Amino acid sequence: MRNASLWRAVLGVENTVVECVEYDEVAQVLVASVRPRAGRPRCGVCGRRSARYDRGEGRRRWRSLDLGTVPVWLEADASRVSCRVHGPTVRQVPWARHGAGHTKVFDQQVAWLATQCSKMAICALMRVAWRTVGAIITRVWADVETQHDQFAGLTRIGIDEISYKRGYKYLTVVVDHDTGRLVWAAPGHDKATLNGFFDALAASGEGRLDMISHVSADGADWIAKVVTERCPQAIRCADPFHVVKWATDALDTVRRQIWNQARRTGGQTRSNGRGRRDAIGEAKAVKDSRYALWKNPENLTEKQQVKLDWIAKTNPTLYRAYLLKEGLRTIFQLDHDEAAEALDRWCSWARRCRIPIFVDLQRRILTYRDNILAAIKHGLSNGRIESVNTKIRLITRVAFGFRSAPPLIALAMLNLGGHRPTLPGRT
Ligand SMILES: [Zn+2]
Repeated sequence: MRNASLWRAVLGVENTVVECVEYDEVAQVLVASVRPRAGRPRCGVCGRRSARYDRGEGRRRWRSLDLGTVPVWLEADASRVSCRVHGPTVRQVPWARHGAGHTKVFDQQVAWLATQCSKMAICALMRVAWRTVGAIITRVWADVETQHDQFAGLTRIGIDEISYKRGYKYLTVVVDHDTGRLVWAAPGHDKATLNGFFDALAASGEGRLDMISHVSADGADWIAKVVTERCPQAIRCADPFHVVKWATDALDTVRRQIWNQARRTGGQTRSNGRGRRDAIGEAKAVKDSRYALWKNPENLTEKQQVKLDWIAKTNPTLYRAYLLKEGLRTIFQLDHDEAAEALDRWCSWARRCRIPIFVDLQRRILTYRDNILAAIKHGLSNGRIESVNTKIRLITRVAFGFRSAPPLIALAMLNLGGHRPTLPGRT
């Protein structure tokens, strides 16, 4: 065919012979007939050179990147080879991954888009369903993963569990404290899941388990048990943002109790119209105070600050709970020696605060005292794990339409694993 090299360049294929290109007037698509360059064919699964077996199921098509506004398909024979390991298998083709219905350049562009723009934009631009995007990024990540050693140089790790599918399912994730990279993720949150990580780490190179010096987590027992078994030398730390979240959750419980109480009072004083109105007004104000109580004081809006001042005047218990939460959060900004003293002072304050849930929290904090102080001492309180955690939560929302965990994991790893996809044809 004339201009064969031009077509090779335009179609973005290598080691491929372009036999002919036709425009299908009816379907309004461009169909390029291609074949792999001469040479002994390889097994599609493992890439071993293998003997020809048969013609397979005849012609096949692969979707490729549009040319201008015209959809493009590559068409070729899908003959089979006889692999020593895999038996009769469709031969490897240079333009697509084994078993894929899209070309490598198409896959690559979808993977790049998945890390850059919205679900709607990708599906509309590439003319594919979101589930197809899921299948594509799963195979792209599988390829990227084999090309990189995700565990190289890993010494200080954070282990976290993240819920998805509205809290029905969980992922266990491992983050590198020093680079902020997501290094591993798997569905499940139990000992077997986490052992899967340590098995993979052990298999990736000799002495890799021994190199782990610090492990931070959220205080879950199953994590602590597995870490003690697999990396007894590692110093165990408590991730500060989890500890602060315990306090934020306790504060929220106090707020809800006060709100419910005020609502109930509002219902009981029906005979006294004014008293009822006041109680209902108070209930609503407490309900609306959620964000003022949650936010760090330096980020409060003027309106939220007014709300907080109002709580200080009218709800001493709720305000005390707020101060306890803030007190605990501030400890993580101190250096180690100051923090130890401040943490003990905080515990004695919380023990006497007469808010049952904070008395319980104080007991929990004492249990993890050493782990909390270790996090501060070894600089694991820098918020890196928290930021990765936040990003993965956002990704789980984007990935909601995927049926299974692998596309969600692929999307998280492509975004946060340190090897973000590039556009095809660019470096
Ligand atoms: Zn094979």
